[in-house]
Amino acid sequence: MAKISKVWARQILDSRGIPTIEVSCRLDSGEIATSSVPSGASTGKHEAIELRDDNKDLYCGKSVFKAVQNINDVLGPSVWGLDVNDQEKIDSRLIELDGTENKSKYGANAILAISEVATKVCSYANKKPLYLWINDLAKRAGINSQTHVSTPIFNMINGGLHGAGNLDFQEFHVIPATSKKFDEALRCGVEIYMTLGKDLERRGAIHSVGDEGGYAPNLFTNADALQVLYESIKQSNYQIGRDVFLGLDVAATVFYSNGEYKIRDKSTPLNDEALLEYYKQINSQYHLALIEDAFYEDGWDSWKKLYQAFQGQLTIVGDDLLATNPERVVRAIQEKACNGILVKPNQVGTVTETLKVIKIARDAEWKIISSHRSGETNDSFIADFAVGVGSDFVKFGAPARGERVSKYNRLLAIEQELLRK
Ligand code: PEP
Ligand code: MG
Repeated sequence: MAKISKVWARQILDSRGIPTIEVSCRLDSGEIATSSVPSGASTGKHEAIELRDDNKDLYCGKSVFKAVQNINDVLGPSVWGLDVNDQEKIDSRLIELDGTENKSKYGANAILAISEVATKVCSYANKKPLYLWINDLAKRAGINSQTHVSTPIFNMINGGLHGAGNLDFQEFHVIPATSKKFDEALRCGVEIYMTLGKDLERRGAIHSVGDEGGYAPNLFTNADALQVLYESIKQSNYQIGRDVFLGLDVAATVFYSNGEYKIRDKSTPLNDEALLEYYKQINSQYHLALIEDAFYEDGWDSWKKLYQAFQGQLTIVGDDLLATNPERVVRAIQEKACNGILVKPNQVGTVTETLKVIKIARDAEWKIISSHRSGETNDSFIADFAVGVGSDFVKFGAPARGERVSKYNRLLAIEQELLRK
C-alpha cells in the first residue's frame, strides 16, 4: 500500500498563455508524477469554480497563485499519508475540506489538480498504464467499461469565443466513422484539415487558427462554414455519410439574451422555435451526426423540443447544460433533454465525481464524449481517461497545435499497445 508523502504545486501557462496549475505528487514508495489542469473560455454557470486571483496587477487578473498556495498549504498536506489506491477517500477528503457546493473556497482547479495527479502517480506505483488504472477505477465506480480507443470529434473551424469573432457557432466538427481504427480516423482528420486550409486560402478567407487549432475564417454566415467544410470533404478522398460525418458545438449560451438568439445567418433574432426550425433546415442539408449546446444552458424546454425533433437521428450533447454535474444529468435523463454528455473533469472537480457522472449517463445508454478544454496544457491525462472509461468519442480540438496533438498522439500509442496484446 503506497501512501502520499508530498504534494507541491506551481503556476504555469496554458495554451492561451493564461496561468494554470501544475502539481507534483510523491509517494512513500518513491514514485513521482506531475499533472496540470485545463481551463475553459465558454464556461457554463453551473460548473465548479476555477479560482483566480482577480488582481489586475498580476497577469491581468488571471494568475492562480492563491490556488497554488491552497495546494501547498492546505489541500496537499490534507492527503499526506492516505493510501493512493483509495481515490474515493482522497477525493472526499478534498471535497469535505473545501465544504462548498461549487468548490469555490479552495478552487476546483486546485482540487482537480491533486485528484488527477493522485490517479497518475498511483498508476506508476501499480506499474500499470494510466488508462488501465483508470479502467479499474471505472469498474469500481460500477461502470461496465471495456477499454476503448474512442472516435475523435475534430474541431475543424473555430467560432464563438474560440474564433476570430465572426462566426457565432463555436465548433464545426468532422467525425470519422466509428468503424475506423483510431490511426485511420486520425489520418482522415488530418487530410481533411489540410484540404480545408488550402481551400480557405484559395477563397481568400482568413485561415489562421482559433483556440482549439481549427481555422478561424472570415465567412459571412455559420451555414457558410458548414458548406466550406462539406466541399473540402468532397475534395478529399472521403465520402460524407460513409467515411465521415458533420457535427456542431453551437455553444448557444454565448449568443442568447432575453429569450432570443442572435446569429449572423438571420437579420432578426430568433426565438427557440425559429432556431429549432433553422437547425432542421441545416440538418436536412448537411445530415449532422451530433449537435452540442444547441440552446442555452438553462433552456430546458427548448432542449426537450430539440430532443423530440431529433432523437433517433443524431446525438444531442449537453455541455453547458449538464456541466458534468450528477444532479443536472439525472434531470436531463428524466426530462428527455439529451442523449449524450460532454465529460469535462474540471467542470465538477474530482476524478471520483466525474466517474459518478459517467456511471449515471451510461446507465441511461447515453453517448459519452470525454473532452479537453479550450485552454489546455500538454498533459495527456484526458486521453488515458477516455480510454479507461470506455468513452464513445473524444473531443480534443483540431489535429494541430502541441496541446491538442499530445492527446491524439497518446491515443495512437495506446491503440498500438492494445493491439499488441
Ligand atoms: C466546449 O465548449 O465544448 C469547449 C471545449 O470549450 P471551453 O473549454 O471553452 O468550454
Ligand atoms: Mg461545448
